[in-house]
Amino acid sequence: MAAAFGTVFMPEMAISWFDGSRWSPSEMVQSNSISLHPGAHVLHYSSTCFEGLKAFRHDDGSVHLFRMDKNIARLAQSSRLLYLPELSEEMVSDMIKETVARFADEVPSPPGSLYVRPTHFGTEAAIGKAAVASSESCFFVLTSPVGDYFAGGDKMLRLLLEDNGMRCAPHMGMIKSGGNYASALGPISRARDDVQADQVLFCPNGDVQETGAANFILIDGNEIITKALDESFLHGVTRDSLLILAKDMGMTISERDISVTELLERAAKPGCEAALSGTAAVLAPVGTFIYQGKEYTVGDGQVGQTMLKLRTALNDIQWGKAEDTHGWLTRVK
Ligand SMILES: *Cc1c(COP(=O)(O)O)cnc(C)c1O
Repeated sequence: MAAAFGTVFMPEMAISWFDGSRWSPSEMVQSNSISLHPGAHVLHYSSTCFEGLKAFRHDDGSVHLFRMDKNIARLAQSSRLLYLPELSEEMVSDMIKETVARFADEVPSPPGSLYVRPTHFGTEAAIGKAAVASSESCFFVLTSPVGDYFAGGDKMLRLLLEDNGMRCAPHMGMIKSGGNYASALGPISRARDDVQADQVLFCPNGDVQETGAANFILIDGNEIITKALDESFLHGVTRDSLLILAKDMGMTISERDISVTELLERAAKPGCEAALSGTAAVLAPVGTFIYQGKEYTVGDGQVGQTMLKLRTALNDIQWGKAEDTHGWLTRVK
């Protein structure tokens, strides 16, 4: 069996430290350890944010990052909202390209890829700073070769609709920050144990939002419906890309609120499709909603054709099989 997603790492990574006044020159170091003071801000007060993007190998041997600029902008925004030291977007871009270039010859071929995990966190040794930002920080670019996400075929996901709680504090939703995942772990673990759900679809006050680590989209005929951007949830680059491709295909894009009631009504229709979107899978099909002890099959319970068409369109650009008309790829090698 192949190693679980994200458990194998390339042996080196680019790293830089902010000492309170300047960033150190980026260095390539061993990726199996870093040294931190036990009082480091991140370990106590979760001053951390990260990104997830991928590099792809094309048939001609060239290697390309997908929408790197969008991920860097989101990382800079996360850092600002966490009051971490300001990152230079140029430095981040150089370090990502340098790390991917270092391992360009080992980037797996499609459907595999090199998953890139830029990470920024507060390092100041100051446990008295529970309510003060860390003046020092560290930024590194860890990478992990990953295989086919759908190696076992498309598995229809079971989602528990949770309208009583929320994934994280509403003002934190659009920050890709460690604390948000810790916050969602309890509800997700209980959903797994109690109703064998794969994920929880958080629907605070009946408003369908997202799962623990992926955005949610509903497809009904020619219409694609997903929550409009606000600060309560993570603005996925995959979500954005899929909406652009759906528009290119002539689909109707509805970015708006959708209630649990409307979701269950629409899901009962034969042509309805639901999916989770994110960098790891692009689109993963949802087969069942679980709500208040009852199970609801989405459409006919099979993988939807429109979902597959969108996933293929995005993969084709990433894999160099279709023209990159939106300028989403950055060549590294
Ligand atoms: C990373 C993430 C997503 C998906 O974002 P992509 O940029 O598409 O990978 C969605 N929701 C949450 C909570 C996430 O952490």
